[in-house]
Amino acid sequence: MSLTFEQKLKNYADLAVNIGVGLQPGQTLIIHRAPLESAPLVRLIAESAYKAGARLVDVIWQDDALTLARFKHAPRDSFHEFPTWRTDGILDAVLNRNGATLVFLAENPDLLAKEDPKLVMEAKTTLQKYMQELRKYSMSNYYNWSVIGMPIPSWAAKVFPDDPPQRQIDKLWELIFDVCRVNEPDPVQAWKDHAKILAEKKSYLNNKKYRSLNYKAPGTELTLGLPEGYIWQGVSTVTQKGINFMPNLPTEEIFTMPHKDQADGILSSTRPFNYGGVLIDQFTLKFENGRIINATAKTGETTLKQLIATDEGASRLGEVALVPHSSPISRSNILFYNTLFDENAANHLAIGKAYRLCMAEGNQMNDDQFATAGGNNSIVHEDFMIGSGNMDIDGVTATGDIEPIVRAGEWAF
Ligand code: ZN
Ligand code: ZN
Repeated sequence: MSLTFEQKLKNYADLAVNIGVGLQPGQTLIIHRAPLESAPLVRLIAESAYKAGARLVDVIWQDDALTLARFKHAPRDSFHEFPTWRTDGILDAVLNRNGATLVFLAENPDLLAKEDPKLVMEAKTTLQKYMQELRKYSMSNYYNWSVIGMPIPSWAAKVFPDDPPQRQIDKLWELIFDVCRVNEPDPVQAWKDHAKILAEKKSYLNNKKYRSLNYKAPGTELTLGLPEGYIWQGVSTVTQKGINFMPNLPTEEIFTMPHKDQADGILSSTRPFNYGGVLIDQFTLKFENGRIINATAKTGETTLKQLIATDEGASRLGEVALVPHSSPISRSNILFYNTLFDENAANHLAIGKAYRLCMAEGNQMNDDQFATAGGNNSIVHEDFMIGSGNMDIDGVTATGDIEPIVRAGEWAF
């Protein structure tokens, strides 16, 4: 028996609360960046959260039209200003009210494409600056959090340009339900089974303790050194207080941190990524001793170069992630123009800040110790995709043996 849309939406809300956030009785839940179109889903999420024992659920809405209004009409010298009460409020919930967050990633990929790139970058850098403190806590698993998506008209139109508007929304919903396993008879069990499979891959790689990874694909020839004490993470993770949560829905990746000074070679992107409303597509990055020394892009090159120049760490890598080419998202053969989905379709890397949890004792280190250990620091963290069915990855052992990890985009062990 197939489920109605309402049943699927309810399953999705339950999944976000119980598997994504892993909400515990007595917690405060802040729903952040929810598009106005998500109100019916947000109401179901709030219900589900209270049923799971939440003391308080609150929502910080987000609206592309408001963002655009600012770019059209706000004073040109005002883009360093930020509604600090938003981040202060979330921090207060996280630090003082046993808070957890559920963040929406649902925006028009081309929202700011026609706006002044300098203002776009200023707004994005300002956002990063004010999110920095919160990011410190989220990236060290101080609290439980998750990111989900949902269709909005502009985004759905970008993904399915040839369909009529309502059909675009319906198709994107169906796709999201599908890759989030909401269509499975028992979605919660499906996620637990999926997590188990990836946990096996994770422990295999953690036992191998490869010193470096060699990437080969059309336009990519790259070596990444891995630092002493690095740890592969993925799918399900646990807060410092022991709460299980899944940071992304969907998620297909296992990831760790490369050594910030040990990337050499060249890479070519295989999917576009959206930075602050600007699409960056078909780009290459050249690395020397961990640092990006050259960047070109067919689309969005100015934005890419500005992103890399944000701070010292923005020109180095903070994440290396493995995703089989046969992942459900990749199999759908759809370009989502949304990192939450696209990063789970392909092997990827991130420039910028590394996750403390990818390093043994990482949470106990201060910034200097973390950097000395090879961990990258930055106010940015941006995933971008380099994987395809043509990618091979080898691991190099401590004794110099070379072993296959990925062949033609698939696990090779
Ligand atoms: Zn990632
Ligand atoms: Zn990432």
